Amino acid sequence: MTTVSVLIPAAGSGERLGRGPKALVRVGGKTLLEWALTAFAWADEIRVALPPNITQPQAAAGIKFITGGSERQDSVARLLDGALGDVVLVHDAARPFVAPQVVDRLLKAVALSGAAVPVLPVPDTLIEPEDGRYGPALDRSRYALVQTPQAFFREVLAEAHQLARARNLYATDEAQLVRQLGYPVELVRGDRRMFKITYPEDLELAEALASVDKL
Ligand code: C5P
Repeated sequence: MTTVSVLIPAAGSGERLGRGPKALVRVGGKTLLEWALTAFAWADEIRVALPPNITQPQAAAGIKFITGGSERQDSVARLLDGALGDVVLVHDAARPFVAPQVVDRLLKAVALSGAAVPVLPVPDTLIEPEDGRYGPALDRSRYALVQTPQAFFREVLAEAHQLARARNLYATDEAQLVRQLGYPVELVRGDRRMFKITYPEDLELAEALASVDKL
């Protein structure tokens, strides 16, 4: 049986949201972190990186809390160090809604390829502004929006992080590091409800979704 470790970087300061550490912001009566912990309760282990200045919650069965690093990637590296699963799912605490169908797609794809991430098409017109004014439009059909969770064979992700450390590379997600290793990353269909809470208005959307939706 393949075992799965879920790594949750939750150590961000939540600057753009302006409500303190984002993982502890509440939506529908639960913190963002609690949403993620509930969504992944089935996993063999969950490892969570928290900001240094907050009181660590009591460890529960199968959940380990550690202190994160100064960048998201440092937090993930610390989480990976000591993870035991054959497969790791890296999931931003900032995305409270995790669609089980997407997790199913990821686990199927990763078993075949070793690396898989969820993506969405770009629904809006996409431009490159010029001096704050309308600039050239890009062909949106050529681009995709990347979500989490992202799934990898643990050993592939560990090698990608080693390479990143050696070359001092930083990326906004794990898939970029794995790709830089020369490893193909499969794409599976994501879900718009798995949006990342970044700006204050995202919280209103999340509250609304929390009250109506069963993912
Ligand atoms: O800032 P952003 O929303 O891109 O952060 C994505 C995720 O990475 C969040 O869940 C945040 O808590 C986490 N993070 C982290 N350690 C950092 C910075 C961000 O775990 N140093």
